[in-house]
Amino acid sequence: MLPHTYAQLYKWLKENLAFRENGENESRWLLEEISGKKILVLGDEEISIRDFAQCHTAIERLENGEPFQYVMGSQDFFGLNFKVNADVLVPRPETEILVQTAIEWGKDEYLNVLDLCTGSGCIIISLAKNLAGKFHAADISPQALKIAKENAALNKVKVKLYNGDLFKAVPQYMKFDIITANPPYLTKEEMANIPKELTFEPDLALYGGDDGLSLCYKILKEAPQFMKTQGLFLMEIGENQGGDILKFAQEYFKNTQIIKDLCGKDRFLKAEN
Ligand code: GLN
Repeated sequence: MLPHTYAQLYKWLKENLAFRENGENESRWLLEEISGKKILVLGDEEISIRDFAQCHTAIERLENGEPFQYVMGSQDFFGLNFKVNADVLVPRPETEILVQTAIEWGKDEYLNVLDLCTGSGCIIISLAKNLAGKFHAADISPQALKIAKENAALNKVKVKLYNGDLFKAVPQYMKFDIITANPPYLTKEEMANIPKELTFEPDLALYGGDDGLSLCYKILKEAPQFMKTQGLFLMEIGENQGGDILKFAQEYFKNTQIIKDLCGKDRFLKAEN
């Protein structure tokens, strides 16, 4: 039976999303987002055709394997909410470790901060929310920058955005205290075997060339000339790339270290000059 009231629509959503591990919560989040009403007050009020149609489309998209965050249109990261769509990578919880590391390093200072491959802007906006200074971010994708701009406004921070290829995007005289990056680092082999959900995310944000490292190396090589003395460089990397990245980074930086994620996997390069 098709739902007529919001209470019925909620039940109907839950039934249709029962195939998902977190279907019950997702039903609630979706319905609250679509209807603009809190679940607790949903009752015998008649549903609008628009809300029903949107719930129907959401179910179809999820059945098709699209990430929940794209269907919902947002994702929480570092206690903030970010708008996302298929032009940007969905912010991952492990990336919060990079943000936390930068905040611990930079608190109490006034800093010039740059984030490359910014995508949704989740890293630089979280930093801008928690550090004092000037915040800059670059991405090669104008579509991604549109989302980053919306997210900066949504979270009420000022971030200067640049469109272009890595360091070419920013004025060449600039020097930063902190440079962060979450570049694409998946290998050709990983790309050939990615789970269905990841096929909805932009290749541009995932694929890092045959060995996944080409952009990481390019960024590492150029970073020192854009850093102040005693600056911090932080980059997310793939779990099998720690050894190669560390060796490469040691040619360009004095102090280098690989930081692991909560599962004990190599996940970030931390480097100081
Ligand atoms: N960590 C992402 C994944 O889950 C990849 C992100 C990236 O390439 N920067 O596959």
